[in-house]
Amino acid sequence: MQDLTGKRFIVYGVASDTSLAWAIARDLGERGANVTLAYQKRFMSRVLQLVKDQKWIEQYEECDVTVEDSVKGFHAKLRGRYDGIVHAIAFAPAEALMKPITETTAQDFATAMNVSAYSLVTVVRHGLPHLNRNAGVVTLTYLGAERVVPGYRVMGTAKAALESLVRELAASCGPAYGLRVNAVSAGPVKTLAASGVPGFDMILDWMANSTPLRRNVTQQDVAKAANFLLSSDASGITGQVIYVDAGYSSVGAPPELERVLIEPRIDAPEGPI
Ligand code: NAP
Repeated sequence: MQDLTGKRFIVYGVASDTSLAWAIARDLGERGANVTLAYQKRFMSRVLQLVKDQKWIEQYEECDVTVEDSVKGFHAKLRGRYDGIVHAIAFAPAEALMKPITETTAQDFATAMNVSAYSLVTVVRHGLPHLNRNAGVVTLTYLGAERVVPGYRVMGTAKAALESLVRELAASCGPAYGLRVNAVSAGPVKTLAASGVPGFDMILDWMANSTPLRRNVTQQDVAKAANFLLSSDASGITGQVIYVDAGYSSVGAPPELERVLIEPRIDAPEGPI
């Protein structure tokens, strides 16, 4: 675990104590870093509870990434230089997640893309003047970007765009600023945002028995990988999507198939029939 004493980070997306953003912020704090939180106004009371007595939180400010004035206002309150940004923000209207993809309205599509993908461009553009050279940016994505996951629908398209933006931003901001931009593709974790995905509890149960590690990942698993990517231990890594999913993305069929294939062989009589 790299000591990050003296480093400073901006973390977007804390909504509650279960948020992946909060786990990442806490892990940064435990490594000695100072953290500034950018949170949505409606989560203010929860955020105020969370930051109480946390000495590693140096600042916490409202910021809605879809509102230009809000983003400008947030950045106007920052002082000094930072070493990285955590982008842990996503949203799609509930109706868009309930209906078949063929019923997605242009407006819901645009909202999901704007909040979940374009906001990465927004936070990097506004953040760049506040970052030290060779800083890092980490965003959070999901396997639904590249495979169909029931119930994820338009969010899959938004995450695919987000992963493409990770590569674009890495290529665009690397040469002049040394900025590294990466994503952690997290396995399912129960959070506020995840509760909005239809059938999420079933996905959690199924994953717990299907991943190579036979468990789900925790907020801490995701935080440790995100903060590795933010640290200088990952100085040569940019434009990448790193999976923290207990290995799920590496398998091509459910483990039950192994039993189906092996058990007949165990029962079969030895030698030629
Ligand atoms: P979370 O605790 O609900 O955090 C998501 C945050 O994004 C919420 O604070 C959310 O607010 C915020 N947000 C939405 N619109 C915003 C805006 N306009 N401005 C600022 N913030 C806004 O859920 P989480 O699971 O930790 O999600 C964090 C990230 O991890 C998301 O990108 C998510 O897709 C990703 N991820 C999650 C999982 C999982 O299983 N939990 C797996 C892979 C990736 P609202 O409640 O208003 O939307």
